[in-house]
Amino acid sequence: MTLPQLSFDTGRDPRWVALCARDRASDGRFVYSVKTTGVYCRPSCAARRPRPENVRFHATPDDAERAGFRACLRCHPRREPATRQAVRFAIGESSLGLVLVAESDAGLRAVLFGDEAGKLVHDLQSRLPTAALAVDAGGVQAALEAVVDCVEAPHLALDRPLDLQGTPFQTKVWRALRRVPAGTTVSYGELARRLGVPGSARAVAAACAANPLAVVVPCHRVVAADGSLSGYRWGVGRKRTLLQREARA
Ligand SMILES: [Zn+2]
Repeated sequence: MTLPQLSFDTGRDPRWVALCARDRASDGRFVYSVKTTGVYCRPSCAARRPRPENVRFHATPDDAERAGFRACLRCHPRREPATRQAVRFAIGESSLGLVLVAESDAGLRAVLFGDEAGKLVHDLQSRLPTAALAVDAGGVQAALEAVVDCVEAPHLALDRPLDLQGTPFQTKVWRALRRVPAGTTVSYGELARRLGVPGSARAVAAACAANPLAVVVPCHRVVAADGSLSGYRWGVGRKRTLLQREARA
């Protein structure tokens, strides 16, 4: 260990420059501890810049903790640096209008209906604000074909992995929707009862409205308590057509 020299040389260490710049690209490469607070941080931490003579650099969070420092509650240096999820997408045509299909490495990420390509892309961007989006017709061709098949014959289950991301409550609602058989409908209140949260029909309705996978997560099978169609994120006309197709199948 070369403790005294290290603090003396901090100002000339390239890691000090990264610290001063709060350089995100350096996150995961090292952490720094501050003698006066007993805390260690990732380089990008928004905390006040410490005096160089109080700073030590450590290769890993484990090294910093072995030296007696605790993790900063502001920058959480133990967590992996936030990375942008790569999502590829393309827009195709279906009998219900344009359909945008987006896929991550984990599976289907979004299925959205629309009448205008520009608005569809905007919808995707606002739903996935942190994703690295890329148009990739070849990359999502298989998924797009499978989704269009599903739109034309919504009673057929889609056999592809899903990358369902939402709050725990939303994903619970979306998984319950996947268990509503084609050719049947369910009310928001009944769905809430099935989820064990009777009285939460409004929260269930909000989760249905936030569904990112049109048709694949069949939120079109949820209707009002009196059997009327109620609303649909992608237009009641599309909902009616999907339910009619399922009733005929
Ligand atoms: Zn910090």
